[in-house]
Amino acid sequence: MPIGGEATDFLDVERISGVNASVCMHCGKCSASCPAFHKMDIHPHRFVALVADGDFGPLLRSVTLWRCLSCFTCVERCPRAVKPANLIEAVRLLLIRKPGGNHLPPQLVPARLDEELPQQAIVAAMRKYNK
Ligand code: SF4
Ligand code: SF4
Repeated sequence: MPIGGEATDFLDVERISGVNASVCMHCGKCSASCPAFHKMDIHPHRFVALVADGDFGPLLRSVTLWRCLSCFTCVERCPRAVKPANLIEAVRLLLIRKPGGNHLPPQLVPARLDEELPQQAIVAAMRKYNK
């Protein structure tokens, strides 16, 4: 699922995340400490390696984007300050911001939403997913 080409994706992810994935030393501590490890198809250490390689196709199709809990345990554990969570979030944003790349089309929004859900959250979600 190319977006602007993998070179563009690489620059965008680097800009969004502020992370240099190439300093990863492949120790695997991020994956070993990840509470969502068993729910992911691409584990955090592998995710980082694919970003460093500029191989974004598998990342953009990965369920890992939606399984990461943003708990930042991997960020705390990484001895090289790579911040895998930031890279996952950056790739997720790359996908969400793609014009026409709706993750949640309006027709899939349930007719009846939780009455406690703030209206602002609904409007923000619709804007985010309809670019
Ligand atoms: S932030 Fe995501 S990738 Fe990192 S440890 Fe938590 S669930 Fe795993
Ligand atoms: S903990 Fe850090 S250095 Fe180790 S594999 Fe994960 S991202 Fe790379």
